[in-house]
Amino acid sequence: MAPDTERALLLQQLKNYLMFLRESGHTHVPLNSELSELPVMATLSGTFHDSSPQPLESRMVPKSPFTKPEDDGKPSSGLVDVREELGDCERCKLCETRQTIVFGSGNPNADLVFVGEGPGADEDAQGLPFVGRAGKKLTEIIEKGMLLDREKDTYICNIVKCRPPGNRDPEKDEVEACKPFLIKQLKAIRPKVIVALGKPAASTLLGRTVPITKERGTWHEFEGMKLMLTYHPAYLLRAYTLENRQAVYDDMQKVLEVLKA
Ligand code: SF4
Repeated sequence: MAPDTERALLLQQLKNYLMFLRESGHTHVPLNSELSELPVMATLSGTFHDSSPQPLESRMVPKSPFTKPEDDGKPSSGLVDVREELGDCERCKLCETRQTIVFGSGNPNADLVFVGEGPGADEDAQGLPFVGRAGKKLTEIIEKGMLLDREKDTYICNIVKCRPPGNRDPEKDEVEACKPFLIKQLKAIRPKVIVALGKPAASTLLGRTVPITKERGTWHEFEGMKLMLTYHPAYLLRAYTLENRQAVYDDMQKVLEVLKA
C-alpha cells in the first residue's frame, strides 16, 4: 500500500475511533507528550489542555465506559462489538446525506434507555443524539422530572443512526436496515426499562403501527425487557399543553417505580 494511502487509512481509523469514544460519553483522551513528563489531555472537540489537578494515574488510564461494575453481572463489551459491526455503514440510502453516524450516548450500563426516531441537524453535526431543542426537553424530563442524571443514569439512541434529509420520517427500508443494530444495542445494554419516544420508535419496537395517543403510558415487553411508550419530546414542544406535559410526567413516574423496585 502506498504510504499516502496507508496514512489516510490510519487517519480515518483514528477519526472513527475518536468519534466512537465521543459517542460513548468520553470527553478527553490522555496523550503522552514528548515535550513534558506530564501527559496532556486532548478534548474530543480537538483542543488540548493540561489536566494537572487530576492524579497522574487517572489521567494515564481512563476508565472505559464499557467496564461494568464487578457486581452488576451485565455483559461488558456488547456495545463496542455492535459499533464495530456497524462500521462506516452504507446499508441504506441515509448514508448518502449524513455527516455522522449517531450511534448513541450515555451510560452503557444504564438501567434506562430512551429510544427516539432519528438524528436531526444538530445531532448529525455533533454525532450525538438528542442535543437540539428536543434533546434539551428530554434532558429536562430526565433531570427535573425524574431527578436522574442523563449521562450517568441513561443511555439514549434512535431507531435510525443517520439523519433523514429535511428531518423527514425514516422510511420503511431505512428502519428495516438499521433496526438490527438497535436491537443489538438494546440486548447489549439490557436495561430494566426501555422508553420508546413517540410513534415511530414505539411502532418499530412493537412491530406494528402504534397509536401513541391511545397507548402512551402503557407497559409492553421487548426481548424480555420492559417497554414504556410515551410522547416524543419534539411533540411536547409542538403541543406544549399542560395535559401532554402531565402525561409524560406520569409515564416517567411509572418508569421510576419499576427502576426502584
Ligand atoms: S441509517 Fe442505519 S442502516 Fe442506514 S446507513 Fe445509517 S447506520 Fe446504516
